[in-house]
Amino acid sequence: MKLATKIIHAGMEPDPSTGAIMTPIYQTSTYVQESPGQHKGYEYARSQNPTRKALEEAFAQIENGKFGLAFSSGVAATDAVIKLLQPGDEVIAASDMYGGTYRLFTRVFEKFGIRFHYVDTTNPENVSAAITEKTRLIWLETPTNPLMNITDIAAVSAIAKKAGALLCVDNTFASPYLQNPLDFGADIVMHSATKYLGGHSDVIQGALIMNDPALREQLYFIQKSCGAVPGPMDCFLVLRGIKTLHLRMQRHCENGEKVARWLRNHPKVGKVYWCGFEDHPGYAVASKQMRGFGGMMSFVLKDDSVEAAKRVLSSTKLFSLAESLGGVESLINHPASMTHASIPREERLKNGLTDSLIRLSVGVEDADDLIEDLNQAIG
Ligand SMILES: *Cc1c(COP(=O)(O)O)cnc(C)c1O
Repeated sequence: MKLATKIIHAGMEPDPSTGAIMTPIYQTSTYVQESPGQHKGYEYARSQNPTRKALEEAFAQIENGKFGLAFSSGVAATDAVIKLLQPGDEVIAASDMYGGTYRLFTRVFEKFGIRFHYVDTTNPENVSAAITEKTRLIWLETPTNPLMNITDIAAVSAIAKKAGALLCVDNTFASPYLQNPLDFGADIVMHSATKYLGGHSDVIQGALIMNDPALREQLYFIQKSCGAVPGPMDCFLVLRGIKTLHLRMQRHCENGEKVARWLRNHPKVGKVYWCGFEDHPGYAVASKQMRGFGGMMSFVLKDDSVEAAKRVLSSTKLFSLAESLGGVESLINHPASMTHASIPREERLKNGLTDSLIRLSVGVEDADDLIEDLNQAIG
């Protein structure tokens, strides 16, 4: 089945009790049993909920996976993956990635004796060089937030397999419409469903998708034991959001390309980070593993001062100044003080995330209006 059809039908079965075409919001904490231990497969809603089950099935299908699990946020999904590990285990992670992931790794999990090595994963040899006999997990983001760096998933998957380590890919920026990491050998795909999957800036949620039944069992055990499950209303919102993923992403890609090319030609704009440029260092790999380049990009002004950047950030009218991304409306963000403030400044600068960097999440409005808005803000 093709993706557009899966997006509409994945996980959707008429409700067994009424035939309702939309999976109802099962707003319940528990389920009545006929006699002790005799039930319909649902005991307690932390462990099972029909609305969540429909969503998890949808996650699996649209990522070409066998199993999906839903979490109360993207970081809760990441948290569950790290809980597969033991003290003493080592993780190799991308040096350029979402600030909240870095914070979770360094500030929460390091004190439990898990060691994280941050390397530039755009060159897979750096990953190979960091492998030790204790490496259990490789954590990738591609494209990265916010610098749009691209890592070759298949190449890193080969390194992970050789080392006997798991590979997890944060696929939030691409969405399943543009990239399916399991097809390139990843063991786990992670999403902040808050972003493109939900798509409407009205819910916080996370997802994991995998193929291996044993891995699914371990992660399901963590999900129900640690309890970071989304409520049924949130599951319904993401199920509903997914139904238009392909339509939204088509427009995000079209608008993203128009805005990126326009920015690049603007006399006051310096470097533009967007992986669809033919001279982007990751273009060849992106073209191999992605079906389009999306609506996320970052840029700096030629006047590389924080003041000039802040003027632009405060002057847009259609682009709202806010954290988050992937919703239908366009957002503008200052990574250094907002989404990536939890990464120490020296670490940020080492990876090229300067204080003057501006990130855009290009929405699905009319591209001409978006360009006009940026034009008046850049001045
Ligand atoms: C937002 C985001 C997360 C965290 O997800 P939450 O839903 O906010 O917990 C993780 N990775 C990336 C790339 C993100 O953009």
